[in-house]
Amino acid sequence: MQESLVSRDTHPEDTRITIGNHVIGRDFTWIAGPCSVEAADITFRLAEQVANLEIPFFRAGAYKPRTSPYSFQGLGSEGVEILNQVKQQFGLAVVTEVIDAALLDEISAVADILQIGARNMGNTRLLKAVGQSKTPVLLKRGMSATLEEYLQAAEYILVAGNPNVILCERGIRTFDTHCRFTLDIAAVPNLRRLSHLPVLVDPSHAAGTQTLVAPLAKAAVAAGAQGLMIEIHDDPKNAYSDGLQAIHPDELAELMKVCDTLQGVST
Ligand code: PEP
Ligand code: MN
Repeated sequence: MQESLVSRDTHPEDTRITIGNHVIGRDFTWIAGPCSVEAADITFRLAEQVANLEIPFFRAGAYKPRTSPYSFQGLGSEGVEILNQVKQQFGLAVVTEVIDAALLDEISAVADILQIGARNMGNTRLLKAVGQSKTPVLLKRGMSATLEEYLQAAEYILVAGNPNVILCERGIRTFDTHCRFTLDIAAVPNLRRLSHLPVLVDPSHAAGTQTLVAPLAKAAVAAGAQGLMIEIHDDPKNAYSDGLQAIHPDELAELMKVCDTLQGVST
């Protein structure tokens, strides 16, 4: 592959990304939170539960790339301000999606990690824009992207000057209809072999339903994932988006214990 900056061949050591006291690529990375930033009181309640689990990263989208134009599109600037308050009140680092380069300044002022979603993995102008940012980027795999296409998307960010890219497998489109997407477990060891970038897994968007999240998460850790991004909610029926796949924080606590015992089994 021509892409060299992302390649393990030209950079044999694992990339490590330090954010606060946490080193992604060295420490197992937990990211949890609701799909969307919700009203301030709900978001703070969920953030407190994430902080109580000693998870360093809170995820929630203020700008949402929804499949249907009739679905909730996110709180926008108001949501970014709520995330700012989450940082101050709970000491959490924030992961949030940037769907448009025009929003980069606003979001970078608050985000500790910029998320590029599956629907934007191939948006080269957006990749170039976050490549010029100093903020680490969590780049999700496009739902129909091969690993080569995915790594080329990551290369766009590195070549533009930002070395701090985190890969995240979140499921791909197959003929199966029992999951929202098919989690490509083999992508975990394959990406780790091909690239030095940290490899996380988001089992929530692959699962689509609460009951599948824990089994997929455990499989991902057993396969060598260096972290997990999980959607949570304590009132999933009323979640603004993706409530069907949001697990309760108590369930996440149980999952964290099991995943502790699975780390390192693939090596
Ligand atoms: C999300 O993380 O809420 C999201 C929209 O994910 P994806 O881009 O993987 O669909
Ligand atoms: Mn979601």
